[in-house]
Amino acid sequence: MNKLIVQNFEKVKQNLPKQVKLVAVSKTKPKEDIETLYQKGQRIFGENRVEEMVTKFKELPKDIEWHMIGHLQSKKVKKIAPFISLIHSIDSLKLLIEVNKEAKKNNRVIDCLLQFHIAQEESKYGFSEQEGIDLLNSAEIKKLKNIQIKGVMGMATFTSNQELLTSEFKKLAEISKLTSIIIPGSTEISMGMSGDYLLAIQNGSTIIRVGSTIFGPRN
Ligand SMILES: *Cc1c(COP(=O)(O)O)cnc(C)c1O
Repeated sequence: MNKLIVQNFEKVKQNLPKQVKLVAVSKTKPKEDIETLYQKGQRIFGENRVEEMVTKFKELPKDIEWHMIGHLQSKKVKKIAPFISLIHSIDSLKLLIEVNKEAKKNNRVIDCLLQFHIAQEESKYGFSEQEGIDLLNSAEIKKLKNIQIKGVMGMATFTSNQELLTSEFKKLAEISKLTSIIIPGSTEISMGMSGDYLLAIQNGSTIIRVGSTIFGPRN
């Protein structure tokens, strides 16, 4: 049992309003670290690599909710479709169609968030506001009965500039207002990481994704 991880976890939990969910981002960390938090009641863990998530899923308790937070390739969806709880990183219609197909094979409905590009940094991933809204309004998405859009996700710029972070979080919260009108009930806003989760919560986050502040730095 790693006492430091437990202490870190409890500090983060103290700062959390009740309505905000914590995804403990366990990527690159051993399964023992996950077990430590599991024993303290944490059930939601986030990973960004399919193979690593599948290995951990097999080894760990089955009531863990696994969240995919990293870029997901269509060809890998089938590996996580039987058990994934929430995919944060839907960044194309093609991916959504694939998730729907594999969810159907597994007789389930898979919850998804649309990833929006809110940072100043160049990134290949995430919709612009208009692209995301067009997708939600499209005829194609209405045919997908085995996915459920629960809300939006975004990654802010890697910076300590609080004004810039605030403006990016506010932008995602504004996008969420629009998208939740198109898909009623899709009110989740996944934003905020180790360095900025308090600011994200102040700006409307409902799901924070915290890794290194809990588990320590990654190699
Ligand atoms: C790694 C990662 C996190 C967690 O990052 P920390 O700064 O360690 O809290 C959150 N979200 C995504 C998408 C990530 O890839």
